[in-house]
Amino acid sequence: MIDLHTHSSRSDGTDTPEDLVAQAAAAGLTTLALTDHDTTAGWSEAAAAAQQHGIALVRGAELSTRHAGGSIHLLAYLFDPDHAELTAEMDRVVHDRLPRLQRIVERMAQDGFDLTWEDVQAQLGTGRRTPSRPNIADALIAKGYAEHRDEIFRRWLHHGSRYYVPYYSIDTVAAIRLVRAAGGVPVLAHPFASRRQRAVAEESLPELVEAGLVGIEAEHRDQNDEERALARRLAREHDLVVTGSSDFHGDGKINRLAENTTAPEALQRIEATASGITPVLR
Ligand code: AMP
Ligand code: FE
Ligand code: FE
Ligand code: ZN
Repeated sequence: MIDLHTHSSRSDGTDTPEDLVAQAAAAGLTTLALTDHDTTAGWSEAAAAAQQHGIALVRGAELSTRHAGGSIHLLAYLFDPDHAELTAEMDRVVHDRLPRLQRIVERMAQDGFDLTWEDVQAQLGTGRRTPSRPNIADALIAKGYAEHRDEIFRRWLHHGSRYYVPYYSIDTVAAIRLVRAAGGVPVLAHPFASRRQRAVAEESLPELVEAGLVGIEAEHRDQNDEERALARRLAREHDLVVTGSSDFHGDGKINRLAENTTAPEALQRIEATASGITPVLR
């Protein structure tokens, strides 16, 4: 069983990379991809744990990108973590995320929420590299505003909320080119998830393919049957790899490890497309 999209506490997951790998092995996965948002900070810890637990590890990340006015998450696998331009892009996103969270906190505090920047900073400790809205959600949970991130998001942190503040991110076409230049494999994450803020426009796909897109995530909790079928149809039309995954965030989301999986042939193609600088660890 292969799960190609998960998050650790280096971004907005709740488990350390080590605990994530241990849970993946216990769940019966044979291959796990670690895809923290905009960072490779969890790679070495996950690699050590994967060896210990006898599970294969695909090192990756989920890049924040935008295209045609929409926010698009791009999974990137097996790229060179020292590629100067790609790491500079990830650093830029990570650094812009911090003042953006501060602005959200300011707006909420002005509206009377019992929330300070120190409350959010407390959530950012312990090696978390990528600041994001879930850190504000967790600070609000600590203050008793709700029990789960989902409720906080539905009430105050969703994309249409008055508290929403955007942050810098690279255009998806440029990101795809950059991942390929770094020897990696770009795959669109949950592209047609209508229950998220905005899905990828079908019309955008040809230019993404032209830029070097390799795959598309079809089996994902946030995509209904119709959206999954659309992803599979477009994959056939453009000869793209189809993946499935959990998008596990530990206790931060209801998603469970291995709830959706990827076929071995799909992983083979991803591996064959990568330059080999960052191999699948077995
Ligand atoms: P940001 O990157 O700061 O825009 O925050 C987006 C992150 O929030 C995503 O990576 C999701 O993991 C998380 N998220 C979005 N909606 C929800 C939700 N309803 N419940 C829990 N986490 C969510
Ligand atoms: Fe996330
Ligand atoms: Fe995502
Ligand atoms: Zn994700």
